[in-house]
Amino acid sequence: LFHILTIGASFPENQIYGFHKGYVISPHEVAESIRNFIANFFGCEVCRRHFLDMYDNCGHGHCKRLANQATFLKNDFSNNSNEEGRELAIWFWEVHNDVNIRLMKENATSHHRNVTTEEVNAAKFPTTNMCHTCWLDKNMEQWDSNEVYVFLKQWYWPKREVAVKTLSQKSLRKINLDRQKNTTEGIPLGICGILLVIPFVVFTILLFRDGNHKSSKILPFLRRTKRRKS
Ligand SMILES: Cc1cc2nc3c(=O)[nH]c(=O)nc-3n(C[C@H](O)[C@H](O)[C@H](O)COP(=O)(O)OP(=O)(O)OC[C@H]3O[C@@H](n4cnc5c(N)ncnc54)[C@H](O)[C@@H]3O)c2cc1C
Repeated sequence: LFHILTIGASFPENQIYGFHKGYVISPHEVAESIRNFIANFFGCEVCRRHFLDMYDNCGHGHCKRLANQATFLKNDFSNNSNEEGRELAIWFWEVHNDVNIRLMKENATSHHRNVTTEEVNAAKFPTTNMCHTCWLDKNMEQWDSNEVYVFLKQWYWPKREVAVKTLSQKSLRKINLDRQKNTTEGIPLGICGILLVIPFVVFTILLFRDGNHKSSKILPFLRRTKRRKS
């Protein structure tokens, strides 16, 4: 869920959706929200302690990497260079891998043995089989952040492309409907006819009603104009 959150928060369509709902957020705020959620709601006590210890000591350099308080919306999405959004997703990915490795080491220690490099690498996600472009060396110690981000997007938001397409088509349809509702463009012909006829009907009613009243101003006015013309 946390990965879905960090990656999803970096997508422009989600930013724009949030913006329309009244939320403008930065990657730093997303990280803080995750931290506060874990502090207050995470059921696993030992996980909570470890995470808070890491986070509150600027673990994985988040204090610098996510220091920018600028909102996602200030990013230039046009060239897909959403650096801060990507940094948040990669930061949490690193955090999770650290947990994986620590757990694996703890497990080995409890069996009174040391871990092998292969075991450490097996604990890392994704494996080289899953994403060979993610890792830059055989020991899986260096990674290509761009490739990892692309992999994570595919892994956690596989239907995104379809969703974005459907969303944009849906939004387009809705925008068109709204536009039609608010302009004469979409007013059905029947309503147009009724709107045109109403002033004539009102005028005729006034004319007949005035005909029964001596104080009427409309009939004498019409007669005067008629006489003037003849
Ligand atoms: C913030 C946090 C702190 C935790 N701290 C502890 C702790 O201190 N002690 C403890 O015992 N447990 C801790 N856990 C739980 C631990 O990480 C595992 O979730 C748990 O041990 C179950 O292991 P698992 O192999 O079933 O699942 P996980 O290791 O959670 O893996 C499940 C799936 O998550 C995905 N995944 C794995 N690694 C990554 C990654 N780096 N990036 C993106 N996706 C990944 C893969 O799809 C994988 O199949 C923590 C969990 C979280 C979220």
